Amino acid sequence: MIPFNKPFLSGKETHYMYQAVDTGKLSGNGYFTKLCQNYFMERYGFKKCLLTTSGTDALEMCAMLCDLKPGDEVIVPSYTFVSTALAFLREGANVVFADSMDSNPNIDADKLESLITPKTKVIAPVHYAGIACDMDVIMALAEKYNLIVVEDAAQAIDSFYKGKALGGVGHLGAFSFHETKNITAGGEGGLLVINDERFARRSEILWEKGTNRAEFFRGAVNKYGWVDMGSSFLPAEINAAFLWAQLENLDMIQNRRKNIWNQYYEGLKDLEEKGCFRLPQIPDYATNNGHMFYLICRNLEERTALIKSLKDNGVTAPFHYLSLHKSDYYQSHSSSIPELPNCDRYADCLVRLPMYFELTDDQIKEICELIHRYYGSVLS
Ligand SMILES: *Cc1c(COP(=O)(O)O)cnc(C)c1O
Repeated sequence: MIPFNKPFLSGKETHYMYQAVDTGKLSGNGYFTKLCQNYFMERYGFKKCLLTTSGTDALEMCAMLCDLKPGDEVIVPSYTFVSTALAFLREGANVVFADSMDSNPNIDADKLESLITPKTKVIAPVHYAGIACDMDVIMALAEKYNLIVVEDAAQAIDSFYKGKALGGVGHLGAFSFHETKNITAGGEGGLLVINDERFARRSEILWEKGTNRAEFFRGAVNKYGWVDMGSSFLPAEINAAFLWAQLENLDMIQNRRKNIWNQYYEGLKDLEEKGCFRLPQIPDYATNNGHMFYLICRNLEERTALIKSLKDNGVTAPFHYLSLHKSDYYQSHSSSIPELPNCDRYADCLVRLPMYFELTDDQIKEICELIHRYYGSVLS
């Protein structure tokens, strides 16, 4: 069976984990944590970075930093993972779901203005499959209506919008190092990126359980105590050590993943030309980071049959998100459910193909052949 995902291993992970154990300093914010945080700041120009225990935690920290009051509104795409919405709901805000674009699953920036009310405080775009949302349009709206932009960059490591690293365009950004992402911190992990100076001090306090411990360790204050809200968002050094072994190999990982993506594209574009399905479209302002390769089938029945046909031939190809605005939780907590036709179409028609470092060229060819066979066509 060809799995959908398989975490990359550089071989140095356990070496660095042993090194962390040998230092005897195992809790958070140690040597490897700082190494990873500095890497992101230097490579991508992020102003401030804090490792977290998950992408969800990084989003929750973003939501806490937005200082929301009950009744405040946060605009979120409906075609996303639960955490994008839940992080803000937990802070007492109302989530307003936005539709996807016709051309790709990202939030339709040109239709956002009609959703903005006097209660809107935040827009949280998700860079689906690591492909950028139209950030100039979103940042201009934020400027005009005095909103905070939180980028859910969970899938978007090493991807760019008009040359700017994703996660570094909005006021705050969140990455995930879950095992299904391009790199992992040993299964679970995340990163909070703070691009706006006004959130810098408070982010450290929330991270350190509501204390000013980080300032104390820098020597900025002579004792530390409880000063604000917070929680335990720091990962252990073992996880940071694992992540460091992956970061050292980031270029190699990215090159291979993009190469796999291009092989799929070349192997399947004749079927797109015949109208069998649509392939991902990358806007001029965006780059591809090889996070995901997907097809958009013509309808749910065809997608279901394609998934079954691949499965019968040993290939795991899963669909992805269900529309959040149609979830049981949202339906039972909300009085009005919006109509979001593009989102519903992606929920019904999108299917993802296996994508991981070790996937071989022969396996990619085999998968493309199986898809051709399903559509009654031969690989050209
Ligand atoms: C993976 C993911 C998350 C959650 O990240 P975790 O590290 O699993 O908590 C949030 N948003 C999106 C878009 C994701 O893909």
